[in-house]
Amino acid sequence: MLPQRCLCCGRAGASACARCLGSLPRLEPPLCDRCGAPTAWPVRRCAECSGRRLAFESARAAVAYDEKVRAIVAGWKEHGLRRLSAAVGDLVVAAITRPPVEALTFVPADRDRLLQRGHHPAERLARELGKRWELPVLDALSRTRSGPRQRGSSLAERRRNVRGAFAARASPSSMCLVDDVYTSGATVSAAASALRKAGARRVRVVTFARALRLG
Ligand SMILES: [Zn+2]
Ligand SMILES: [Zn+2]
Repeated sequence: MLPQRCLCCGRAGASACARCLGSLPRLEPPLCDRCGAPTAWPVRRCAECSGRRLAFESARAAVAYDEKVRAIVAGWKEHGLRRLSAAVGDLVVAAITRPPVEALTFVPADRDRLLQRGHHPAERLARELGKRWELPVLDALSRTRSGPRQRGSSLAERRRNVRGAFAARASPSSMCLVDDVYTSGATVSAAASALRKAGARRVRVVTFARALRLG
């Protein structure tokens, strides 16, 4: 069942070939200090995040979410792809400094969707990062309900949909929250909020990819 071709270019061999992995659109400074959006110069808050209540201290991603990255993430969700998880872990560690936290955790899978496909990139990435950064990975969060699909929802709808969608049992005071893709920031902010209610004072977000809102 594993694809024998690159998810991006179709070349036979690995699920993401070295050439495609090497040419993904890396996100490089200057960035918004808070949400990680690329900016013209370093800023503390940017047009995308200023005025928004965000429960995380900062968010960083390795690459921009373009068509190639979209294909990789879709294949990752569908097939699991252990070696792809490792390659993505390498990319993230190369792009993002190890956060000064006590532990890692991940945005939990929607139960219905997890049952459908059986793979959860956020957890896989957290485990790859835990090995590389030598940090424990805690299964700290759960979903309080099955959220409606976020794709196609407006930003205001997304924020409403995810509010209160997560619960955390307990959290150390500093946590790094891992997800595969940062889209509007609403999901990670809601998950970070649950971690803070459970004892986290500082939550840093790390994702593989980040959607860019141009214009
Ligand atoms: Zn390729
Ligand atoms: Zn920002």
